[in-house]
Amino acid sequence: MKNNLINDLKIFKTDMSMMYQRINLMIKKYKEYANPIKGLDGFFETGLISLQNSIEFIEHSDYLQKNSIVFRSRGIGLDYCPGCIFCENDSNEIRLMKNISAFIESKEDGEQIIKWIKDNKGITLDFRVNEPDWIQIKIGSCDKHENKLKKLHQLCMINNTISPEIIQLANNE
Ligand SMILES: [Zn+2]
Repeated sequence: MKNNLINDLKIFKTDMSMMYQRINLMIKKYKEYANPIKGLDGFFETGLISLQNSIEFIEHSDYLQKNSIVFRSRGIGLDYCPGCIFCENDSNEIRLMKNISAFIESKEDGEQIIKWIKDNKGITLDFRVNEPDWIQIKIGSCDKHENKLKKLHQLCMINNTISPEIIQLANNE
């Protein structure tokens, strides 16, 4: 069942790649009318990345979900973070960086996620005693590792979860 789905998705991805190439050819061919069709180019490009992430996630879903914690990513923004979670030797000096902020369900969940990250670098828990239902985790990344941060966001979005295995997969990007 799962393998059939993966095969179907891969066929779908091949079709989508062909459509993406056709749009690009049209953009080149009809240069003076390129603007109104440029959006489609981006649509297929984003779709292909998202489809690839879904395929990878389904292929390894048991493994990726094994230790998962609910994590509702709010997307990538800019905020003050203690370093990059993907850098081997980054300092934990707090500075303005690209980051994922996400809602989590409890302070304990946040503390667990922090334990997964080596030296707790690049990650902060925003827990306010007066707002106990508004708990967020922030994960920072340097500019060099923005693609890994994007991948992490996309993988977390699939099931609104995070796990050490999901972080590892993003880090392999
Ligand atoms: Zn980095």
